[in-house]
Amino acid sequence: MDNCLFCKIARGEIPSKIVYHDECTVVFADVNPKAPVHLLAIPRAHYAAIHEVPASEMGMIQRLFAAVSTVVASENLVDEGYRLVVNFGENSGQAVPHIHVHILGGRAMQWPPG
Ligand code: AMP
Ligand code: ZN
Repeated sequence: MDNCLFCKIARGEIPSKIVYHDECTVVFADVNPKAPVHLLAIPRAHYAAIHEVPASEMGMIQRLFAAVSTVVASENLVDEGYRLVVNFGENSGQAVPHIHVHILGGRAMQWPPG
């Protein structure tokens, strides 16, 4: 997608602090962190939401979560715990319509979320 912020980050057209990348997935620092560790994991392919991914391409989501698994270990989040968040649509507050998994850690969190 030409005009998508996260597609531009994945293509390197907008600078970001990338902590992990492979041919399917990029993980980078959230520019407005809500926790001491706040990363965003995105597939390189543009889909607004999980439910828009065709069954034939769900391997991308497997790869996305494999990257998340690698990063929570490399960021030392496993012992104290972490939270993964995926927003979609108006009620969730989703601001960027490109699938992204928020990886939050480094502090205690409340439940239920706001
Ligand atoms: P969401 O509300 O789930 O769509 O989350 C979008 C996230 O993208 C927010 O946490 C923003 O802080 C983050 N964000 C927006 N622009 C950038 C950017 N240029 N680089 C990194 N993170 C960004
Ligand atoms: Zn995109």
